[in-house]
Amino acid sequence: MRRTRRSGRAMLFCAVMKKTRVAQKKKPGAGKKIAKGGAAAAGLARGKAAGSEPQRVAAILAGLDSMYPDAVCELVHANPFQLLISTILSAQCTDVRVNQVTAELYKKYKTPEDFAYATPSELEQEIRPTGFFRNKTKSVMGAGKALVEKFGGGVPKTMEEILTLPGVARKTGNVVLGSGYGIAVGVVVDTHVIRLSNRLDLTHHTEPIKIEQDLMHILPQSKWIQFSHQLIWHGRRVCVARKPRCADCKIEPLCYAKDKTSWSAPQSAPRK
Ligand code: SF4
Repeated sequence: MRRTRRSGRAMLFCAVMKKTRVAQKKKPGAGKKIAKGGAAAAGLARGKAAGSEPQRVAAILAGLDSMYPDAVCELVHANPFQLLISTILSAQCTDVRVNQVTAELYKKYKTPEDFAYATPSELEQEIRPTGFFRNKTKSVMGAGKALVEKFGGGVPKTMEEILTLPGVARKTGNVVLGSGYGIAVGVVVDTHVIRLSNRLDLTHHTEPIKIEQDLMHILPQSKWIQFSHQLIWHGRRVCVARKPRCADCKIEPLCYAKDKTSWSAPQSAPRK
């Protein structure tokens, strides 16, 4: 019988997951909850997560590819400069809300100069729906000024330079370099990536900088940009914070998060 390309890919993914499950079973302690004091015994003394074996990571990447082959940054932007401003505005705000605001904002403010020499009180009201509008006004005006004065009006292409802009930390730098220029110097670690990389046992840290280091260590660099998009999409659509929809999750067989919803506890024998 002729096998279609799609079913061929699905079979390959299933085979990888099966292999990984076998490997997990072979690994002492795999799939079990690790007590805090048992971390060193479980080989975690060097900060290595129990679920970061290359085979398992490859299967997770294959699963994410099959679920979200076209995942992209959901902040609407026409160029790296707009992406920079949108990312600053997205702090503590949804991408949907930022996109609503910037749809009008970018008609009026087209260049770094426009932001640099804006009237603060006007700009504050224009970005008010994104929250923290006074600080964000200072940041986008400061970023505009720095782009004009230090970078000739362009957005720099190195992390070192981007981090000199007001209101810009490593997450924003990774978003702009990755999605604006296609330059992979790190992994975007936002709230979804923090939650999911822990749920998937790819890290045991909660600090973004340490999570990023763990992810950069276990993921191939060619996946750094796409992986964060896929994890963010997964966190928004399926692996949501309060009640993850595990029944719809293609990497469910690879996940042993304690708050999985598709997992059902074995019935205990009725007491006599
Ligand atoms: S199985 Fe559930 S908890 Fe695990 S990654 Fe999928 S949706 Fe998230």
